[in-house]
Amino acid sequence: MCGIVGYIGHRDAAEIILKGLQRLEYRGYDSAGMAVINGQMDVLKVKGKVKELLKMTRKKKVHGSLGIGHTRWATHGEPNDVNAHPHMGAYRKFALVHNGIIENYDVLRQDLGQKGHHFAGDTDTEVLAHLIEEIHEMSDVDFTEAVRLALTQVEGTYGIAIVHKYHPDRIIVARKGSPLLIGIGDGEYFVASDASPVIEFTKKVVYLEDDEMAVISREGYEVSTLKNVPLTKEVHELAMNLEQIEKGGFPHFMLKEIFEQPDTIADCMRGRLIVDENRIQLGGLTGVEKRLASARRVIIAACGTSWHAGLVGEYLFEYLAHIPVEVEYASEFRYRETLINEQDVMLVISQSGETADTLAALRQARKRGAMVLGICNVVGSTIARETDAGVYTHAGPEIGVASTKAFTAQVTVLAMMAMMMGRYKKVLSDELMAELVRELNRVPSLVKMILRDTKKIEEVARLFTYAPNFLYLGRSYNFPVALEGALKLKEISYIHAEGYPAAEMKHGPIALIDEHMPVVVIAATDHTNDKMISNVEEVKARKGRIIAISSNGQSEVGKLAEFTITIPEIHDCLSPLVAVVPLQLLSYYIAVNRKCDVDQPRNLAKSVTVE
Ligand code: GLU
Repeated sequence: MCGIVGYIGHRDAAEIILKGLQRLEYRGYDSAGMAVINGQMDVLKVKGKVKELLKMTRKKKVHGSLGIGHTRWATHGEPNDVNAHPHMGAYRKFALVHNGIIENYDVLRQDLGQKGHHFAGDTDTEVLAHLIEEIHEMSDVDFTEAVRLALTQVEGTYGIAIVHKYHPDRIIVARKGSPLLIGIGDGEYFVASDASPVIEFTKKVVYLEDDEMAVISREGYEVSTLKNVPLTKEVHELAMNLEQIEKGGFPHFMLKEIFEQPDTIADCMRGRLIVDENRIQLGGLTGVEKRLASARRVIIAACGTSWHAGLVGEYLFEYLAHIPVEVEYASEFRYRETLINEQDVMLVISQSGETADTLAALRQARKRGAMVLGICNVVGSTIARETDAGVYTHAGPEIGVASTKAFTAQVTVLAMMAMMMGRYKKVLSDELMAELVRELNRVPSLVKMILRDTKKIEEVARLFTYAPNFLYLGRSYNFPVALEGALKLKEISYIHAEGYPAAEMKHGPIALIDEHMPVVVIAATDHTNDKMISNVEEVKARKGRIIAISSNGQSEVGKLAEFTITIPEIHDCLSPLVAVVPLQLLSYYIAVNRKCDVDQPRNLAKSVTVE
């Protein structure tokens, strides 16, 4: 969360920062700000989105060849102008932007208060700025050393970038727990939370690791540990391109990403699903199959949409590979006596590969001896680097805050993993493997069929735009899809929605059903269809408004439903890949009708890098 961008070189830093912040805005949009140095230090910051900062910058005509910027997702202190980053000390000599949480800020604040510091706002970040100032002003150390010393006193997480009015030749950056990379240009350097602001200018990047800091000048960069040990860093080549991070004619990133799914699912399977040989090949898992096959249990740890993908993964692993699985919220796992050990395998799932809780769960599992595998979208992300092995989803940059194409790519990877392990363990028959390979290979064209005609979904969206509540029911593989459908609706349209296993409805939620309650029923799985029909009857008897997501031939549910959105038939265990698509679209159209900000829903941010 929070986007950081910085520039030092020969171009106009203000322009690069503004453009970079727009690309990073999905990470937070409570406020935006920047500091640019050009003889003097101009610091502009404002509540709201980057466009507000843009207006301010135009009015004040801010330019310079060195600067830093920030787009905030508030953790401490309300989103207002004062709490916006950059933060400065009392002497206003330097400016600091921060992503993360200074956990001991309260103690530090009290201590600094006793030394005479006054704080303008309520953020943890401002306390760090004052701490740096205190060390710099009160001791005989240079500014870079003051930053380093301050960081040794800090508990919590940070990605920071700092510029100093009287040192207009450098940006100081440091990282612990929040992502930060340096883009290497020709006589110019960039700093960013992710590669999107940098990609237009250079493909060469260096990823900062935890407990590392760097001093970046026009001539180069020097990286060292926080303990002052110099480091030589590997330079990575970025694989993404500019088109991938632009809207390409769609009104919203979310819609673009929904429509990309036929391609992203195909990309995810490319070179991995070997159709002619009925085989799955996942290079990222080479050498770990034996340990995975003999695991006492696999613990899937994730958050949000990735957690829903993990639930589908549980069903797939147990059915196809006979591997016992537990799915955990990463945030719960890390603070429990989880009894994980070297007989277990942890599989973490995270689109960004930076999710703070997931990363913490991974580290805890590793510490206790478990092998840790990852499914991530962002190449080179922290989770990707810290796992023993893993599989990239290759879905391309996901900018819309509500995850769509990352989910289908994660489920695709999980299906491939389960099939591969089923074969490895010799528990998946030749016939079923051949059938699933064929079926998986059809998924991109089936998703395309749904996307070709969205009229029915738009009609349902229109009718239920102002419904205050929604229920989503699914069974078996589509119970997680019910959860995901409800989450999508909550996230972008702010309608209260709940997902339930259809049979669970009798144990409580059925009390909510009356003639005003839309109930979305995902009836895509054959083997639970009869039971589903009974559940739908129960809803109908209570006058609920039934919207069925039903595959061809599921006419019984169709007859009971007020509306039926038809999806193509596919093997039960792969049906989430198809069934989720109309639910993504339904929430999208409802949110647009309600004039909600689809790509940047209130209170949310993508890539949750705080706990
Ligand atoms: N803790 C800082 C603030 O609230 C940064 C928040 C973040 O990284 O999301 O301003």
